[in-house]
Order: sequence, then structure tokens, then C-alpha cells
Amino acid sequence: MEDINLKMVDNGLDFILKSLDTIDKSDEDLKYSLLNLHAGIQLMLKEILYQKDWSLIFQKIEDADIDKLRNGDFSSVNYKMLVKRLKDECNLELDKKLSDKLNWLKKERNKAEHYQFVVSSDVLKSNIVQLLTFLIPFLKTDMIEKGYFGSDDDRFSKIKEYLHTFDAYVNERLKLIEDEVDEIDVPLQCPACSQETVDFIDQTDAFCHFCDEQIANFADEYIYHFVDRYSSIKDGGEDPLMECPSCDYETFICLDGYQYVCLSCGVKPTQDDLTTCSGPVCAEKIVYRRQSSEDEYEPSFCELCLDYFKNA
Ligand SMILES: [Zn+2]
Ligand SMILES: [Zn+2]
Ligand SMILES: [Zn+2]
Repeated sequence: MEDINLKMVDNGLDFILKSLDTIDKSDEDLKYSLLNLHAGIQLMLKEILYQKDWSLIFQKIEDADIDKLRNGDFSSVNYKMLVKRLKDECNLELDKKLSDKLNWLKKERNKAEHYQFVVSSDVLKSNIVQLLTFLIPFLKTDMIEKGYFGSDDDRFSKIKEYLHTFDAYVNERLKLIEDEVDEIDVPLQCPACSQETVDFIDQTDAFCHFCDEQIANFADEYIYHFVDRYSSIKDGGEDPLMECPSCDYETFICLDGYQYVCLSCGVKPTQDDLTTCSGPVCAEKIVYRRQSSEDEYEPSFCELCLDYFKNA
């Protein structure tokens, strides 16, 4: 193909670096930090598609046209399609943790663009540390080592320096709140800063010690950011949102295969405390395990099934 140099890697690295430069500034600059970071990473990823086949950076491949490409007169591939094509066309599947953080970035970027912007620089740093922790190895393995740009690139070194500075800052902040967080029996992840520093206040609100702020409608916020209902069910898995054995709301989740928590009423039983109802009415509802002595368990039924027995 003719030599059309889109400079996507150069612009991408510039944008990423610029986004980190403005992070200590005022609200308005923070907003541009998010917009630039998102734009920069997208450009880097697009370069991979472009090298595979230039038509892949058109949102609609059937519209791909060399003159349009030369003039920049085209709708470029959106994020969702970009990720899909990387996987389908370049055999490049983003690491789950990187892709989670990129999804976070996309959501925050959209918020920053359309709504009033309220995120603090602490919150951004906390998330950006996590993002860069996964992005830098990706850039190294999937871009530098494959020749997209040189390992001696000054901007790449600066991005790594920023990670270390922010990381040190975030750790200091975590140290400050260590005692408070230690007192929470099951700290939950914060939808804003992504640190595991959240405790319940009441039925609807929670408090994040890292953000030092109350989180209204905690269950909704948490589910929106961290519970991927669609993918779990689509792949034939179980619904990650279960009915709570205490309050009956469908906000009961399993954190790590053992620890459960209800995002509405805040109960935090473990696997040992729970079993499924073996009654005939419900579909194996989760219930508390009934124990009559040290190692003797009675059958445990849910209210519905108990009612059924009573009336039978
Ligand atoms: Zn937080
Ligand atoms: Zn509950
Ligand atoms: Zn039942």
C-alpha cells in the first residue's frame, strides 16, 4: 500500500503522556486527562489493526476507501468493534484486568464528556495506577517487542515514571486510612476509586475511606461497575446476582468463591454458613445452613418451601 503515515503511535503516546501531565490540575484539566488517556490508548490499539490491514480502522469495512483514509474523512472504528477486531483479526485478546480497566476508562470518559465532572485527582490517580499497571506490560509485549515503537522511546519511559509516582502517592494515602480499613470485616471495592476500602453505612449508602466520601445508592453503583451479569449468563454461567437469604433482594454476590455479601442489607456470610434449599417450590434458593450440633446439619428450607409444607 502507498505510504500513508497516520502517526497513530506517536499521537497515542503523546496523548497518554499529556493526560498524565494534567492530573494534578483543576477539575477541567482532569476531564481532559480522561479524554486524552482514552483517545491515546485507542490510537495505540488502532495502530495494531492498521498494520494488519488499513481497512480495519474503518467502522464499516465496506466503506473503506484509500482517498477517505488519506483525507481523514471517515468514521473510525469504535471501541467495542476495535476490541472485537483485535481478537478476531489479530488474534489479540486483551487481558481481563486490562480490559476491565479500559471499560472503566470508557465509562468515565463518557461521563466526563456528557455530565458535570466531579471526580477528584486522588480517585483518578488510584484508577490510573491500576490501568497503567496492566497497560505498560501490554505495550511492552504486544507493541514494543513487535516493533510498533522503540523501547528507548522517551515518552514510554515517562509514562512508567508517572506510574511509580502515582503508585507511591496512592500507597501513602492507603497507609493513612489503614486502621479504619482494617476494622471493616469485609471491605468492598469502591465504584469510584476501585480500592477495597468501602464499608456499609445503612441500607442504601456506603462510605469509601480512600475517597473519604459517602456513596449513595451503593448497590446500584457497585453492580453497574463490577457485576457483569450479561457475560456470565451468556456463557451459560450462573447469574452473579442472587437472592439474598436475609432481605430477599437480588443483590447477593459472591466475592471470591467463599465470601458472600449482600449489597442491600450488608450481611456477609461465608460459604460455610450457606446451602441451597432442597424444597420443591423454589429453584434452589440460597438459604442459611441450619445446624443442630457441632457437625450435624438439618435440611434447610426457604420460607416459600416451608409454607408449602405447612399447607400441604
Ligand atoms: Zn473510593
Ligand atoms: Zn440482603
Ligand atoms: Zn425453597
